[in-house]
Amino acid sequence: MREIRVRFAPSPTGALHIGGVRTALYNYLLARKHKGTMILRIEDTDQTRFVPGAEEYIKQSLEWVGIKIDEGITAGGAHEPYRQSERKPIYKEYAQKLIDSGYAYYAFDTNEELEAMRNRLKAAGSSNQQYSAATRMDMNNSLVNSEEDTKRKIAAGEAYVIRLKVPAEGEIHLQDLIRGDVKVDSSQIDDKVLMKSDGMPTYHLANVVDDYLMNISHVIRGEEWLPSAPLHVLLYRYLGWEKEMPQFAHLPLLLKPDGNGKLSKRDADQMGFPIFPLNWTDPNSGELAKGFRESGYLSEALINFLAFLGWNPGSEQEIFSMEELIDAFSLERIGKAGARFDIQKAQWFNQQYLKAKSNEELSNYLLDSLKAESIECSKEKAEKICGIMKERVTFTHDFWLHGKFFFIAPASYDEQVIAKKWNADAVTVLTAYSQEINKLNSLTAELAKATLETVTTNLGIGTGKILQALRVSITGGASGPDLMMTMEILGSKEVVSRIQHALNTLKKPV
Ligand code: GLU
Repeated sequence: MREIRVRFAPSPTGALHIGGVRTALYNYLLARKHKGTMILRIEDTDQTRFVPGAEEYIKQSLEWVGIKIDEGITAGGAHEPYRQSERKPIYKEYAQKLIDSGYAYYAFDTNEELEAMRNRLKAAGSSNQQYSAATRMDMNNSLVNSEEDTKRKIAAGEAYVIRLKVPAEGEIHLQDLIRGDVKVDSSQIDDKVLMKSDGMPTYHLANVVDDYLMNISHVIRGEEWLPSAPLHVLLYRYLGWEKEMPQFAHLPLLLKPDGNGKLSKRDADQMGFPIFPLNWTDPNSGELAKGFRESGYLSEALINFLAFLGWNPGSEQEIFSMEELIDAFSLERIGKAGARFDIQKAQWFNQQYLKAKSNEELSNYLLDSLKAESIECSKEKAEKICGIMKERVTFTHDFWLHGKFFFIAPASYDEQVIAKKWNADAVTVLTAYSQEINKLNSLTAELAKATLETVTTNLGIGTGKILQALRVSITGGASGPDLMMTMEILGSKEVVSRIQHALNTLKKPV
């Protein structure tokens, strides 16, 4: 079998979209599964779309999610350089080869001439206004002009592009590992520009040349590149590389959460969820887009979620570590149908991963939040808090957001609970309870519970009837983690002070 060599080949045109992370992940899983090589190549030949900082962002994103690069811009390798803008002479050589063998030609058409062609065809009622076999002989190129003329124009420094001479007809087939047989009639393909007038190759030429030179075995990429694939097949054929052509796998689209249409940044913004792995500040607009990381997602949960967007293991198992994904992954189990980007499922994965972490690990999230608020807390206390909260959190920052009451006494009380549960019985029990707690030096959950039982029994009032009132006086809220443990963590003094404060500030029930 051919050695597995795959590449992730993003263009640095902005933040890495979450769909790009999925593409990188599937490449990585295949490489690791077969002890192959994962390559990171930067496709930056379109200088007009270059965005500063984007390459760095791509690197950091892959690092955060745990996709390791074996070869490429970060790791070096036998095929350096891995940034296409640094490989210009290589592409020039192959463009020349195509010209010499008659598969490509020089075109000198100005923008006005191109525009005139389109208008002419439109006026003639043609639905297809492409530069192609049907039109090329009416244009300003080396197929029409004499050889001397062409040489003279080039020598005179006239601007030109190099175009591929796509045949007038004939079916082009390709076997896609996900879509099966894909065929296109070459009359549908225009004479694509391979080299631009600035001497840079276009994506098509650079991509094919590099995949060949880097000995890529599988091209795994998004469905949006499927229409380009037949053209790439032609290029492999004309360059004499058909035998070395990689296998193609075009991944299904990512759909909006409701399944209607392609997922976009606009949807994510509107529905309030991230679409980029890390925070991204657009260098032009200055606009900040929040990342999955900064929104409180764990990278393992995000990877698990992304793995399932288009692939499934064929079993009921849902929780997969990266190692388990590598083990289970196969291109055969990727579907054709678009994958719904169900953000609630992403949250579910996050909950599962948070729950499974040790209190020690989780405490770091809380301690980070506390540091930002300049609140002191011992590691031991943070661990205890995380331990009783971890069943209830979705995001890493929830330990702080839903656990503020551990550090700040309530300034207000849940009105519904007060209306329903703050009654004479509650006041009687809480008054006696705080007196009893006040006698204790240290408070444990067991002691808090036993003391409450004693007080309510003595007063002849059911504990269940006053529990909500006790909780609201301690935390301000209607729900939360285990109340007895909460009181243990707060300590007897704080518990007494909070109950006293509630008794003093809340209106006496009539
Ligand atoms: N540079 C292309 C992109 O930005 C890569 C497409 C491919 O993998 O061939 O997605």
